[in-house]
Amino acid sequence: MKKVLFLAAVPFWFATHAAGQNSDSLMFKRVFDEALVRGEAYARLGELCKTVGARLSGSDAAEKGIVWAKQMLGSYQFDSVYTQPVMVPRWERSQTEALWMESALFTSIVKKGTTENYNCEAFVEQVVKPSKKYRLHACALGGSIGTNGELTGKVVVVNSQKQLDSLGNAGVLKGKIVLLNRAFDQGLVNTFSAYGACVGQRYSGASQVAKYGAVAMLVRSMSNRCDLHPHTGSMAYTDSLQKIPAMAVATAVADIIAELAAEDENLKITMNLGCVTLPDRLSANVIAQTNGMVFPKKYIAFGGHFDSWDEGEGAHDDGAGCMHAFEALRILKAVGYTPRHTLRCVWWINEENGLRGATEYAKIAAENGEEHVAALESDRGGFTPRGFGVDTAFIRELKIMQKWLDAYGIGTIEKGGGGADIGPIKKANPNAIMVGFIPDSQRYFDVHHAETDIFENVNKRELEMGAASVAIMIWILDQNLD
Ligand SMILES: [Zn+2]
Repeated sequence: MKKVLFLAAVPFWFATHAAGQNSDSLMFKRVFDEALVRGEAYARLGELCKTVGARLSGSDAAEKGIVWAKQMLGSYQFDSVYTQPVMVPRWERSQTEALWMESALFTSIVKKGTTENYNCEAFVEQVVKPSKKYRLHACALGGSIGTNGELTGKVVVVNSQKQLDSLGNAGVLKGKIVLLNRAFDQGLVNTFSAYGACVGQRYSGASQVAKYGAVAMLVRSMSNRCDLHPHTGSMAYTDSLQKIPAMAVATAVADIIAELAAEDENLKITMNLGCVTLPDRLSANVIAQTNGMVFPKKYIAFGGHFDSWDEGEGAHDDGAGCMHAFEALRILKAVGYTPRHTLRCVWWINEENGLRGATEYAKIAAENGEEHVAALESDRGGFTPRGFGVDTAFIRELKIMQKWLDAYGIGTIEKGGGGADIGPIKKANPNAIMVGFIPDSQRYFDVHHAETDIFENVNKRELEMGAASVAIMIWILDQNLD
């Protein structure tokens, strides 16, 4: 009897499984067609970048952007679009922002072309000015104090933590301007790994050198490229230590300073920074929602951060991630998909320098008893999608889709999802599945936090492929989770 049942079950299983595969492939096709043929993400990102531009938390531009976001999302007939008020920090760059170098050896060093390691002589020539004082490509780090007039000092270059501690303990850093110059490891294929190994210099470097009596900190820009674009980013001070001003210098500039410092003991740097921290300001997360039909009180949140640094237009970081999420919600609606869970596209505010938006979102969700079954974050730019980082608990379900994911070039499934903005959701919902969208990483740090993060550097097809990928992942999560 058992045997008969088993035999009878086989054709049935084949039939249903085959039908399932057909409908899966049809859904992939519908979603990618909608993104690539009738996509809206690229045009909306263009509007955001060109009518609003950079959106630093607490700035007038960020508030203008939130008005635009609410209006734009409101034009798509989602079930609801609303803002979630939250106070954010407010730091402002100033017109007064300059870094000068004085060295009699400068032109001879540049002529020697000793920066050939990075093949950047072409860039370096642009720095040369016909005087012995040269203005260099640099910008204040977000959160830095100002200099209160000009600050001049001799430079010490530091390439590792070990060197920092030994020079510090020997008293060499006292009264100096310290350049933290550890470069990206170019051998690391995943550029985020190289970033992770260096970014501590930027974030806590000022206090690390202040501990040894330094008067200011310069940090090599977080980039794989050798060029003249400084990359800003967040920094924080240790309260118990002296607060000192901090700037990022372009990678090519860091190379020149390092070479000169080795040969010219009279090398001097002058900084002048007018940046200030102002009182916190009211801002908001922006949310668009499609209600679930089976589990309306269970949520899948997906999004990116709406704020950006003030250099560039926040196109890849993280306008692209915001558009991925909005477009995913739009695509699923456009293809006639009825979600089982309530789907939320969230544009979190203040990821770059405070994470206040993400913290507030999770807090309000907890207060309202909103159970999140999954959350996805896209904050690695609008480049060609490769796949996803996913909580181990969901990898088996995802593997069933491997064939289709591979067919669309998004079959890379890595253990461990998550991201800064969805971290607080995980804390409140330990069983929720966390997903991080993974695009190709090779060009991200060319533009990250720099004036080059503009709409023109986003490729339309790559952005659309990313949006379709996010839509597909939300659909898979919605189908598989209860
Ligand atoms: Zn970001």
